Amino acid sequence: MLNLIDLRSDTVTQPTPEMREAMYRAELGDDVYGEDPTVNRLQGMAAERMGKEEALFVSSGTMGNLIAVLAQCQRGDEVIMGDLGHTFLFEAGGISALGGIFPHTLPNQPDGTLSLNAIHQAIRPGDVHQPVSRMVILENTHNRCGGVVLSRDYCESVGILARENALKVHLDGARLFNAAVALSTSAKELAAFADTVTFCLSKGLSAPVGSVLCGEHDVIEKARRLRKMLGGGTRQAGVLAAAGIVALDKMVPQLADDHRRAKDLANQLCELPEIEFEIGMPQTNMVFPSVAKNVPLDAATFAKKLAQKGVKVGAVGERRIRMVTHYGIEDEDINATMAAVKEVLSRA
Ligand SMILES: *Cc1c(COP(=O)(O)O)cnc(C)c1O
Repeated sequence: MLNLIDLRSDTVTQPTPEMREAMYRAELGDDVYGEDPTVNRLQGMAAERMGKEEALFVSSGTMGNLIAVLAQCQRGDEVIMGDLGHTFLFEAGGISALGGIFPHTLPNQPDGTLSLNAIHQAIRPGDVHQPVSRMVILENTHNRCGGVVLSRDYCESVGILARENALKVHLDGARLFNAAVALSTSAKELAAFADTVTFCLSKGLSAPVGSVLCGEHDVIEKARRLRKMLGGGTRQAGVLAAAGIVALDKMVPQLADDHRRAKDLANQLCELPEIEFEIGMPQTNMVFPSVAKNVPLDAATFAKKLAQKGVKVGAVGERRIRMVTHYGIEDEDINATMAAVKEVLSRA
């Protein structure tokens, strides 16, 4: 029996030994009073990395995105977002349920972008019959589009268009550091156009819990109250922030290894006649192979059979599989995964 290789998501990453050590030693205070020195330090680092004035440590990316919308939009306002975006698909409808926000979805193009023209067309003219357009949300890397990277130039164009129309831009940068590494640029460059940005500490960066919302002072001040309202004001949160500091300090460079392994895995899968790549080869740490139509295995069955061989993958469509590389997945795990894939396919 193989060791378990869990490729379902980079959210399964365990904290590094250095993180556990930092958590043990963390200096703590009451963060609702703003007195946890470790949280404050993480927030300072995060704001600096994103090129924003301030930052707020939140429990999850979902909470960060929700707070960003609530802090900058009124009930009845419209937020323009991708129809494959995390906020639209995977955040339990929170912006509508809790914020009274009207989502205006536009088709995500295969490269993760929203067409500039479509955004332009979607912006309301200020007619009393219509809701007020208030914000555009972009996602980088784009999860559902295959972990694809949005270029700095594209992001800047959206920023300019939004500003011309008095719209805010929120960047869901859950994996912004993956995008920065893939583009050999900084997260700050990629967030420059956005009023607010969230990024996750708990995915490829391997911290156990937490995301950070960054923006200008006024927004973060509102965000702090909203976090309390949502029940996300926590006390000695420095035990978690300590891991986040190590994540920011130490874990960004290794994302390049995850990307290399994702490419390696995709290249090997590509050579199998039973596997197709409908949505392209990986740009970051996500691999989306599909089982060819002539193979009598749907994605769910394929995933189940792989799990019996010790390899966990996600089934994200009728035929499509998701495999995500991350801290803890080594070169030999890629080889073991290929062996398991070949074995399952040979018995199909
Ligand atoms: C994971 C993720 C989030 C936030 O997820 P949480 O599980 O709430 O931390 C937000 N956006 C994208 C694109 C994500 O992949």
